[in-house]
Amino acid sequence: MSFKELNLNPKLLRAVEASGFVKPTDIQRDAIPVVLAGRDLMASAQTGTGKTAAFVLPALQRLLSPSSARGKGPRVLVLTPTRELATQVNDNIRQFGRFCQFTAGNVIGGMAYPPQIKLLKQPLDLLVATPGRLMDHMEQGRVDFSRLEILVLDEADRMLDMGFINAVKQIAAATPASRQTLLFSATLEGKVPAIAKQLMKNPARIQLATNHERHASIRQHVHQVDNAAHKHRLLSHYLKDDALTQALIFTKTKRGADKLAKALSAKGHASAPLHGNMNQNQRKRTVEHMRRGRFRLLVATDVAARGLDIRSISHVINFDLPMVAEDYIHRIGRTGRAGATGTAISLVGPEDWPKLVGIERLTGQKLKREIVSGLEPTTPEPRAGYGRNGNGMKPKRRAGAKPRRNNGRRAASKGRRDDYRRSRDGGHRDGKVAANAQRGFQPWLG
Ligand code: ADP
Ligand code: MG
Repeated sequence: MSFKELNLNPKLLRAVEASGFVKPTDIQRDAIPVVLAGRDLMASAQTGTGKTAAFVLPALQRLLSPSSARGKGPRVLVLTPTRELATQVNDNIRQFGRFCQFTAGNVIGGMAYPPQIKLLKQPLDLLVATPGRLMDHMEQGRVDFSRLEILVLDEADRMLDMGFINAVKQIAAATPASRQTLLFSATLEGKVPAIAKQLMKNPARIQLATNHERHASIRQHVHQVDNAAHKHRLLSHYLKDDALTQALIFTKTKRGADKLAKALSAKGHASAPLHGNMNQNQRKRTVEHMRRGRFRLLVATDVAARGLDIRSISHVINFDLPMVAEDYIHRIGRTGRAGATGTAISLVGPEDWPKLVGIERLTGQKLKREIVSGLEPTTPEPRAGYGRNGNGMKPKRRAGAKPRRNNGRRAASKGRRDDYRRSRDGGHRDGKVAANAQRGFQPWLG
């Protein structure tokens, strides 16, 4: 199928062609007709499959017909969880709208207010916003939604995970009930169905991927590591590989990212950090330089795990595993984009095994263990579960369960079952970790 068959306006087709797109991706093929028909839509597809164009193109097509309502507020509102993503969506709007005359802008956290206030006073076709900052402006009465026609929730799963449920509901409630609502997400699980039910009218549903079907284009493996020095040696090993054109390296903390970027620069690698202590302009510049190839390595915290779209990233390296298993999926989705293949390598330290268990459970696949000769780990891999050594906690016993008598002399199979239960207890703790990670995310919220 070609873009032409999607009945897009010639001006949009020209822009699509100028972008070098030859044919629509699956999600574009399926979603664009539904959106053009005016129906509400909830859609999921693997990251990197072109969801942005799947809503931007039909939204622009709609804007080519004049509004029937008076007023000058935005006719299309796109909500995204992070500033980076908002900027990217806006770039797409500019890219596909280049042969038309649309006015569009961003209202995102971390940026100065006056230009945004000015933007909101002007007639506007499209507005891309992070929920927090948009709410700020709404509370000051600066936003006119009287002629809003389309509301898009992009990366809906993440937006809801980040605690934006109420903001999203309030924003939706401030828009006309007659609007068309579109929801795009990496998954249609978790909190997504409930919000879809509340905000959408009989939505069409397109589901092109589930967690474990994703990322066929990414080779994934893990290395068991003894300690930090071992991590550095393995990293150096991979950096010597010519197949590594550009890499995104994830660390647990902002300080860790700074430190590692500095260490890599000192060794002669063109590297830069990317994290939440940098202001929006610094972050934007860093991403731009990476895109242009000025850096080979970007050392980032999870702020870069979502949305970031740099096609030449051949490797994602988890120097530290993410706190929340879900973030693993988003991190590795930064490579293997738009038909390319990518490599995702995770370095698993002695403390990290419970996190790896969480990731393997979520993705439904056991990640390949790899060994580099000369850089082998010195101890065998801990058994699945790792409850006792991993966190020093005893397994909880279910209320009413009999105390175990033969503790310490258990049959191997029974031990495994216990370990499994222990790691399920660990699942509850993950809830707390997730909440903390969310709090840690606050500086990034719009
Ligand atoms: P998602 O939102 O699904 O993660 P994006 O919209 O960010 O994906 O698109 C990922 C990449 O694929 C972008 O670089 C985009 O320009 C490119 N892309 C999108 N649609 C097409 C297409 N039809 N043909 C080629 N490349 C495309
Ligand atoms: Mg996207």
